[in-house]
Amino acid sequence: MSDRVKQLVREEIQALSAYHVPDPGDMIKLDAMENPYLWPQEMQTQWLEGLKNIAVNRYPDPSAASLTRQLEQVMEVPSGMRSILGNGSDELIQIICMALAKPDAVVLAPEPTFVMYDMIARFTNMRYQSVALNSAFQLDMPAMLQAIEEYNPAVIFLAYPNNPTGNLFTEQDVRTIIKKSGGLVVVDEAYHAFAGHSFMPMLKDYNNLVVMRTVSKMGLAGLRLGILSGPTDWLNEFDKIRLPYNINVLTQYSAEFALQHSDILKQQTDQICLDRETMQQALAEIEDIKQYPSNANFILFKVLTRNSAQIFESLKLDKVLIKRFPDTSGPLAGCLRVTIGKPEENEVFLKALNKAFSVQR
Ligand SMILES: *Cc1c(COP(=O)(O)O)cnc(C)c1O
Repeated sequence: MSDRVKQLVREEIQALSAYHVPDPGDMIKLDAMENPYLWPQEMQTQWLEGLKNIAVNRYPDPSAASLTRQLEQVMEVPSGMRSILGNGSDELIQIICMALAKPDAVVLAPEPTFVMYDMIARFTNMRYQSVALNSAFQLDMPAMLQAIEEYNPAVIFLAYPNNPTGNLFTEQDVRTIIKKSGGLVVVDEAYHAFAGHSFMPMLKDYNNLVVMRTVSKMGLAGLRLGILSGPTDWLNEFDKIRLPYNINVLTQYSAEFALQHSDILKQQTDQICLDRETMQQALAEIEDIKQYPSNANFILFKVLTRNSAQIFESLKLDKVLIKRFPDTSGPLAGCLRVTIGKPEENEVFLKALNKAFSVQR
């Protein structure tokens, strides 16, 4: 690093390491909560036909009005609310933080949770405070309420279901946090398609609640598209920070097309929910594993007596990539996270996993 870089770049940024995404090579990719399915051939052909008419020389609709309306319909955003779209929900988290980043403003979230809340808080010069979840990965309510009182957070992020734990917090706990908070509460429903429960209908009950969704885990991760919905006064302010044209023409076209076929996406996510159950049953057969309940398209499990790093490496040798957490300390010590893939991929994973447990001592 040159002196000039060292001198000019903010110290908090220098202290960070870049977000690392492992290269899957030719491994079966069960590490990133992607939907494993492509579209049926006929749908692909139709999509390609429409693509011919896209004018890439023109700027996109700056507010993606038509796509926004369609997403609001599919996501059942209550009437009277407003929505904005982001280049992935990651960008929406960034917009929220930029809007609220007064000097010393605090972001509060439980721990462990989605790492981008912490990262983006740092990028935007906000103070990040976390409160440990209890041993069942539920909200520790006395500690949460104390943190709300102590830090008066400008924003609280609650992933619902939570990543990487996979569970839903109780509705009552989330409602209590919304009520007790003097700031904004963001309920991040990235895994809504697999969750069976939502705070979307409750937007009308509160003036400090917004709900965030993404199409990524539904099967459109490559498009980078998220939606943030809530009371108009909040969304009007956030929209001022959104860069014009943040949703490109290819994404606007492709997402609209995909949502016209939302029955196909629904079939895929329903299939994933069924296969989650099959996976849970198979994991329950392995003695040295404690698995956690999941309302998402992944399962977190703890390796009880063996070394989780060795299990992970053994899976890799059998060409299966899942997610590993640092194995020394903290609530995720010894934990691995597997995304539900196609049935045949899940079978390869389970076979490799059983092998890893049988040979390794
Ligand atoms: C995957 C994930 C996101 C990111 O979604 P993108 O729209 O792909 O940026 C947001 N929140 C949680 C909790 C996630 O797990």
